[in-house]
Amino acid sequence: PAGRNLASLAEAIVTAMRKPVTFNGHICRFGASVGIASQSGTAIDARQLLINADLALYRAKNRGRSRHEFFTSDFQAQIITNKQTADDILSSVEQGRFLPYYQPKFCARTLDIVGVETLARWNHPTRGILAPDTFLKIAEDLDCVATIDRIVLEKSLADFAEWRRLGVGIDQISVNVSSKRLHDPELGRSLRTLDIAPKSLSFELLESIFLDDCDHVVLENLAEIRNLGIDIEIDDFGTGHASIVSLMKLRPRRLKIDRQLVKPVSRSPAQRKLVGTIIEIGRSLDIEVIAEGVETPAHVAIMRDLGCDSLQGYALARPMPAEAIPDFVLQQEWRKVPGGIRDPQDSNRRTTIS
Ligand code: C2E
Ligand code: CA
Ligand code: CA
Repeated sequence: PAGRNLASLAEAIVTAMRKPVTFNGHICRFGASVGIASQSGTAIDARQLLINADLALYRAKNRGRSRHEFFTSDFQAQIITNKQTADDILSSVEQGRFLPYYQPKFCARTLDIVGVETLARWNHPTRGILAPDTFLKIAEDLDCVATIDRIVLEKSLADFAEWRRLGVGIDQISVNVSSKRLHDPELGRSLRTLDIAPKSLSFELLESIFLDDCDHVVLENLAEIRNLGIDIEIDDFGTGHASIVSLMKLRPRRLKIDRQLVKPVSRSPAQRKLVGTIIEIGRSLDIEVIAEGVETPAHVAIMRDLGCDSLQGYALARPMPAEAIPDFVLQQEWRKVPGGIRDPQDSNRRTTIS
């Protein structure tokens, strides 16, 4: 009941604060977020109580503002786990426990491998190999995503050089670049110290990065990236709110259709039409289009027939460690995906290889 009173009081405050106020002839709008912590009993720790309320306030803001949040016991438990994870991330960065996995990208028509995307993995001391959903958010709060990006890039360049030496036949790697890294004035300098052959590297940049396209550091970094012969790909295309016009000003090499748009194409003609339109836009501007999240043989066939240039997804290959790549390329197992092969020459080549 006390909690309910506090909640309705908080709501009343939030509602009252949202009412616009006229000042000097202008309508001004405000908002308020409320964090609530309570303790009962005899031993009340006022300092801790304030910290808890502040943490609840932080959460209220994070969850969209103009709302209230209570500090609860599972909230507290989560803070402790996050603190543990944060400590683990920092020591793992020092111990070199972050590494790239690789997911091949395929030519939609020939199913030849056209490149690999690097995906960060955490080789956790006790939990094994972990995907980014377990660490990326906390790493962001710790301000160390850009460091992880750099580590992944350096390791992947070394793996790439090794594949070259072995004659594996992979011509390009693409890496994910966080917004933080793209805003780093030191990015150009750090890239120039690396041995990057033109056209061998591509940067996947999230559509959301370009919402504030007036930032001059970003523009300089983009120019530098282009100077170094690094391709630019727009990741998760179709999910953000950036305008097509502002994205096209970047003259990216490729658009990556987000897997949320790819998933429904086998069931929905409207969705197929939407994806077809994106491919048309790419084509008319001379920008390649790649589909991600290609999970089924039907996806492979539909995206190919809609005119996608390349495909990536579980139907053809899952992310794998560097050591698995040479064998994967040699075995050519992905060509056995039903419906995946159109060109009869492909099956000839397959029989000569195997
Ligand atoms: P993303 O760039 O959109 O990468 C694709 C994600 O989809 C990867 O998840 C990949 O494993 C997964 N995926 C691939 N094929 C399929 C499929 O057919 N179906 C489904 N459902 N999923 C598929 P992952 O490796 O967990 O990475 C998640 C996200 O973390 C990435 O999304 C990317 O935004 C971010 N990320 C990964 N590595 C890095 C990195 O080195 N730096 C930065 N800044 N972000 C990274
Ligand atoms: Ca990506
Ligand atoms: Ca994506």
